[in-house]
Amino acid sequence: MQELLFLGLFMAALGIGWFLGRREAIKVGVMLAPHASAIDKQYFIGLNYLLNEQPDEAIETFIRALEVNPETVETHIAIGKLFCQRGDVERAIKVHQNLLARPNLTALQADRVQFELARDYLAVGLHHRAERLLNELVETSTSLRAEVLADLVRIHERERDWPQAVAVGRRLVKERESFAVTLAHYHCELAREALARSEVPQARRDLLDALSCQRENVRAMLMLAELELGQGRDAEARKWLRRLALHDADFVPQALPLLHKLAARGSLDLLAYLDEVLDNSQPPMMATVLAKAEELNKRSGISAASKHVLVYLQQQPSLSGLLYLIDLHKDSVEPRGYANLMILRGIVEALLVDKHKYRCHACGFSGRQLHWQCPTCHGWSTIRPLKGRELAAISPQQFN
Ligand SMILES: [Zn+2]
Repeated sequence: MQELLFLGLFMAALGIGWFLGRREAIKVGVMLAPHASAIDKQYFIGLNYLLNEQPDEAIETFIRALEVNPETVETHIAIGKLFCQRGDVERAIKVHQNLLARPNLTALQADRVQFELARDYLAVGLHHRAERLLNELVETSTSLRAEVLADLVRIHERERDWPQAVAVGRRLVKERESFAVTLAHYHCELAREALARSEVPQARRDLLDALSCQRENVRAMLMLAELELGQGRDAEARKWLRRLALHDADFVPQALPLLHKLAARGSLDLLAYLDEVLDNSQPPMMATVLAKAEELNKRSGISAASKHVLVYLQQQPSLSGLLYLIDLHKDSVEPRGYANLMILRGIVEALLVDKHKYRCHACGFSGRQLHWQCPTCHGWSTIRPLKGRELAAISPQQFN
């Protein structure tokens, strides 16, 4: 069925192209016979192939029959693109290469064909060939510059060549402001590599560059806090964690290990910090609620912790909250009640095991781990922690 639809579309495109070719030939006063009759002949040979269910031969014949002139170039480009989208990249490359060899293309048309050819090469993984064509185009074509830079940056990203990705990304962001989010992550990737080489000052510069691209990049803030903590610069680490709470409190649970370290060194009043976060986030992340409960438990005992969790649980049912309460009270339950409580605990724990905690708002991918780049749609910063009702809605089968 799909094959028939494709052939139908293909025939329509060719028919229009063929008609335009003839019309252009008449307009410029070219004698239609015997040249035009040769095209007509090719066209009927193609039809014959089609009727005999030989689509490959039919397509080859039609392409030969289609005149290339300024009015049919777009048809040729569209045919090549159609082949590429259909997965027949070899044929798409042939169409675009043949087209590029024509001397009568305008500069704009030649750029367009070269761009499509580069995309064909990308589709079959010939990255170096695509890169060469795109590098030429980026210097010559102004109309396609943003698209060309976007394809080039995608090649560097796939190859994890972060210095190149940053260099091209800096040019792209001038054309597309929204690219700043992605560019910020490229700087974070550079920082990650610098840290692996133990080049702390370089990593710090890369992370500050990331924040100059996107002020609210939580990944850069978290990495800076960790870096400064590792260097014993607690005040700096605290500054980044405060900024994280201010910009995006939903990511505070990612910082809990760092917050606990700072608190253990006496460099942070964890309870005051968590209070501030909970006051500013609606609904709050349950992990933040539980972190505060734990602090209350240490300072004022079980009753204060339990009361605090119950207030949030009544507004926002949560399995992890329930598990926390069970653990909090299990030692004060009589032996028979204890056995029943442990059965309940096992059930709650089993429900939590496969629970997805993160979701990509661009493609809907969900998972148990936080990825800065979505593994499905490859968007950066598109995955966020789930909370409240979202968290319950992501895997309803688990609650049956
Ligand atoms: Zn996604």
